[in-house]
Amino acid sequence: MTEPTTSAQQHRTSTVIAIDGPAGAGKSTVGRAVAAELGVGYLDTGAMYRAVTHAVLRRGVDPYHEADVAEVAATIDLDVYDEDGRTQVMVDGESATVEIRGREVTGAVSAVAANSAVRAELVRRQRDWVDAHGGGVVEGRDIGSVVFPDADLKLFVTASPRVRAERRVAETGGDVDEVEASIIERDRHDSSRADSPLMEATGSRVVDTTGMSIDDVVAEITGMLR
Ligand code: C5P
Repeated sequence: MTEPTTSAQQHRTSTVIAIDGPAGAGKSTVGRAVAAELGVGYLDTGAMYRAVTHAVLRRGVDPYHEADVAEVAATIDLDVYDEDGRTQVMVDGESATVEIRGREVTGAVSAVAANSAVRAELVRRQRDWVDAHGGGVVEGRDIGSVVFPDADLKLFVTASPRVRAERRVAETGGDVDEVEASIIERDRHDSSRADSPLMEATGSRVVDTTGMSIDDVVAEITGMLR
């Protein structure tokens, strides 16, 4: 029998790039570009928290009921993969790719993500994914601080709330003021939770994309890799 692995260090197999930052900062675009540049896989961990939230809502569970939400995270059959530049999500054998981006899930995801049992389960799945893929680009809120504190490169990608809201509206539509308010609220919730709050991890390089196009951001970061 093998000993259970306990530290992030023991889960490392090859290059890991950690990308963290607040909602809508362009992390996914940057993450995919960096993964393509390196020829490695890309994992959107936010989609995993969204998928658990989707299952919680679909099963009629209260997102604030810790034990019931933990049970959903422990039992969910979850498949997250990248296809055609988009994160595809299967929850219990059914596609949830569209539903996880909806208003209902977005409104409840921070509560689900504050649940320590959910985090422990998803962190375990994220480390397993990296083991199975021999490294990769992993994007989220706690990747450089908790999941892979010894990542080869840690980036904290950010931008002003206004710019983040404008980018989101350009992609998916909506009202800029409303989207900005929702982004600020989600950041506040994610930064103030007790377990693994959104923060700049020790040793991370901060990339403020406020005055930059996404293409410029990608060029700057891929430059760091060369
Ligand atoms: O990245 P995205 O905005 O899709 O993430 C949705 C939510 O999932 C975040 O607002 C946060 O509450 C949670 N999350 C997290 N830790 C991660 C990734 C996402 O808590 N590593």
